[in-house]
Amino acid sequence: MSIDDFERYPLLFGPSPVHPLDRLSDHLGGARVWAKREDCNSGLAFGGNKTRKLEYLIPDALAQGADTLVTIGGVQSNHTRQVAAVAARLGLKAVLVQESWVDWPDAVNDKVGNILLSRLMGADVRLVEAGFGIGFKESWQAALEDIAAAGGRPYAIPAGASDHRLGGLGFASWAYEVQRQEQELGVFFDTVVVCSVTGSTQAGMIAGFAGQDRPRRVLGIDASARLAETRAQVEKIARATAELIGLGRDLGDDEITVLEGWAGDAYGVPVRSTLDAIRLTGRLEGVILDPVYEGKSMAGLIDLVRRGDIPADANVLYVHLGGQPALNAYSGVFR
Ligand code: PLP
Repeated sequence: MSIDDFERYPLLFGPSPVHPLDRLSDHLGGARVWAKREDCNSGLAFGGNKTRKLEYLIPDALAQGADTLVTIGGVQSNHTRQVAAVAARLGLKAVLVQESWVDWPDAVNDKVGNILLSRLMGADVRLVEAGFGIGFKESWQAALEDIAAAGGRPYAIPAGASDHRLGGLGFASWAYEVQRQEQELGVFFDTVVVCSVTGSTQAGMIAGFAGQDRPRRVLGIDASARLAETRAQVEKIARATAELIGLGRDLGDDEITVLEGWAGDAYGVPVRSTLDAIRLTGRLEGVILDPVYEGKSMAGLIDLVRRGDIPADANVLYVHLGGQPALNAYSGVFR
């Protein structure tokens, strides 16, 4: 099997854009930084990394005759919003279990941003009290049983579309998309910086790049504040995906790098470095990052470039995975 043997349901505009961040690079005074933009990869509700992953889950859902996509996330989950959009596009129903993963005091947290978009796209949004966790959850299981009992045909999509047999394929194929874009642009990205939480984005990339000739570093920046869990999940999904796409060798431990230092104390709660990174990228590039994910991974990139941990002669690809709608629930921190 290779990645090309898996059915892909088109949800994206095409390859996502890649462009240099010249003013940010000049400001940091080291490596050249580029961005690949999953935040504008699709016309479906602002897109994002899950839309790309769902291109590989949807053929499976349709083959099973599913009529309802059932998934889970936090109240401001980007993932559940993208599932709602894809369901709308396909004429399916969406049931979204939205757990109180983040103890965030903003009074509009459960009314604006992602959850607002999911509601207006017609999803059945179910708010549940439960803490952060990327594993299988009772509330999600209960929703699946509910739908089946009512005669529906649910298709189960775990948090972040990650812990799923096909969850790593979207970003394994992304790795080949990068290779093609590099040939067009005449550049090689020796370092890739990506935010990790539920793991299949980075895991898919690792598996996809492992099948290519020229080695490169894929640096995951943990945004969950639970490094061991995130790393274990990335490793598990990377190995499973590598096997699924016929890599033909085991991945080495050194191919799986998830770094800590920028998540702060808790998932979903921005810290000083997050907000500084968001402001810097906004002011120098007009590129908008969110306080839960991309602000944290950009904070990591900024420090790694400034400290020379990413050397000055490197070409870095910063992977922008989307997530801006959540900013609406965080207006208080930018006053
Ligand atoms: N960035 C954004 C905007 C996300 O919504 C997510 C989802 O969790 C991530 C990064 C992390 O990706 P993953 O969960 O695949 O590790």
